[in-house]
Amino acid sequence: MESINRYVVTATMVFIVFSCKNSKKTATGYQGQGPSPIVSTVSKPVQKQWKGIWSFADSTTFFSNDFESGRLNGLTDDDNDHYTALITAENTPINVSPWYAFKVWTKFPRTVTIKMTYQDSRSRYYPKISKDGYNFMPLDSANFKPINPGQGEYGIKAAPEFVEITIPIDEKPTWVTAQELYGSTRVKQWVDSLSVLRFVKNYEIGKSKENRAIHLLEVGNTNTKKAIMVISRQHPPEVTGFLAMKSFVETLCSDTPQAIAFREKYTMFISPLMNPDGVDNGHWRHNMGGVDLNRDWEQFNQPETSSIRDFLNLKSEENYVFDFGIDFHSTWDDIYYPLDSTVTKKKGEIVFEWIKNIGQRLPSKKTNISASKNLRPTMVSRNYFFVNHNMPAIVFELGDNTPRPFLKLKGQVAAEELMKLLMK
Ligand SMILES: [Zn+2]
Repeated sequence: MESINRYVVTATMVFIVFSCKNSKKTATGYQGQGPSPIVSTVSKPVQKQWKGIWSFADSTTFFSNDFESGRLNGLTDDDNDHYTALITAENTPINVSPWYAFKVWTKFPRTVTIKMTYQDSRSRYYPKISKDGYNFMPLDSANFKPINPGQGEYGIKAAPEFVEITIPIDEKPTWVTAQELYGSTRVKQWVDSLSVLRFVKNYEIGKSKENRAIHLLEVGNTNTKKAIMVISRQHPPEVTGFLAMKSFVETLCSDTPQAIAFREKYTMFISPLMNPDGVDNGHWRHNMGGVDLNRDWEQFNQPETSSIRDFLNLKSEENYVFDFGIDFHSTWDDIYYPLDSTVTKKKGEIVFEWIKNIGQRLPSKKTNISASKNLRPTMVSRNYFFVNHNMPAIVFELGDNTPRPFLKLKGQVAAEELMKLLMK
């Protein structure tokens, strides 16, 4: 108990996805957000983005948002290869996660400068650059100029109001994106690549508002009724959480003796892309119902959350027992959002044991824990998993800027340590 209590921080949190106005900055790393209000999850109108190609400089320079996850809502030509880009949200109110993704190219090689503006929001995501839409690198810092920079380390106040980016362009498109692109097509390619393994299946468990598939990966090759549940990407821009989830799942699917033995005892159910409409439409946060899906685990007004609810109910009827649930997200820095052990009692201790073990394997990055003492309303997936299916559950958050090799390592270590604990 001693070691468990040491990790239970005092902050009481009802809800978990960051809300910048409440974020606290300290010298000891990101401390998490304060409670979020209860909101209705009845569908609201969404501004569908105009998609197409903008043409400038006597039809020699072009911008496009016409691809999966593209977002660019307007452009002005300020002369001399300077442009102002307007990035707007699908609807409001919405939190500060202005996603953007566009391509730019020209007939005559040149250098363009783009001022990025975000309506009432600020610049959260450091630009990523790609020449093929698959491999991304952060923009060279020499080509990045914050305008009206923020103060502090975390949250909206720490973000610049605008940024100006300078990029050399040529006939071959250059992608400029908030994070790496993982739209539904690329995610499906990954799902299919895993599904060639004899112990992996994938199937649809529902459809999104715009009729995209909600895919479920089932990993394991036994008749066991012991299971874990993993979900990811309720919030479209949270690619770093997705990347950690990807590594986590690949580790469960690997051919190590540990993973092989684990798959004899456990079935893993994974929904890697909970919000395919939001992701493919380049949304900042919501689904096509204009709703934050991670507020809908009590009301179930949206098809994406309802598909997981129905799936879990079906599995419960089939006598599956869930021993762990993880929901991967991204925020200002790595942080764990478990339920406090004072409310989960003995059942939830494994979560803290697991966090401790991951920390011991990865001492280079101290990661805070912000535990919630409130179980109801369930509203968020973690609470729903625990209250309705009795599974120890956590929101596993990765930083927007956490180095990608570390994300991969953390996903792997998290899987290995979970397998170790559950096989005890
Ligand atoms: Zn999130």
